[in-house]
Amino acid sequence: MSGQKFSPFNSDTQVDQPTLNGPWSHTAPAPTPRVNYEQLLRIGRDLLLAIGEDPQRAGLQDTPRRFADSWKEFIEYEPGRTDTVFEQVEADQLVVVSGIRVWSLCEHHMLPFWCDLSIGYIANGEVLGLSKFGRIAHQCAHRLQIQERLVQQVADEVQRITQSPDVAVLASGVHLCMVMRGIKTPAAMTSSIMRGCFRQEASARQEFLNLTRLKTNYE
Ligand SMILES: [Zn+2]
Repeated sequence: MSGQKFSPFNSDTQVDQPTLNGPWSHTAPAPTPRVNYEQLLRIGRDLLLAIGEDPQRAGLQDTPRRFADSWKEFIEYEPGRTDTVFEQVEADQLVVVSGIRVWSLCEHHMLPFWCDLSIGYIANGEVLGLSKFGRIAHQCAHRLQIQERLVQQVADEVQRITQSPDVAVLASGVHLCMVMRGIKTPAAMTSSIMRGCFRQEASARQEFLNLTRLKTNYE
């Protein structure tokens, strides 16, 4: 993955296929899951014991609670309404929103990663409110994820809400599981979803990419 260059052609192999996880669909948003807080408190304490710490020592006494609180805050994230659609006068207009940074947790290591997302779609008589893009992205990020599925779920949700078949999502992510362990190389991983005209027409794809101005390296 290190130093991977963006290419709209090599990273999206899931076009027109169902989403990677079951509950997410084009017809309904995923419900917000709930944590088992008591269990998180126990796990926080057990984790300290498992790594040879003393949960009673000064500095750690409140750590299981903080651990449980942070998981609860992350998992039970409420994005607010994401489905408000505004009417628009002109049709067939390319709308691009860039620089949406979200934080998520890699499901392989449960370590954080952040992703800078650009979302584009062809407005088909309706325009999605700008703040909704951020909410959609955050909603998809607040769970155990892999970057490829995050991108796909954002695309699914934008497509579901706007009813536009022409949706593009570009993401550049930095994963702590790569940066602080493993190869320990700060590398940005880029992935994309191109659907509809963004998939079929090079000019539409290029216009989207020109408008994103997404940085793909964090050296
Ligand atoms: Zn990982």
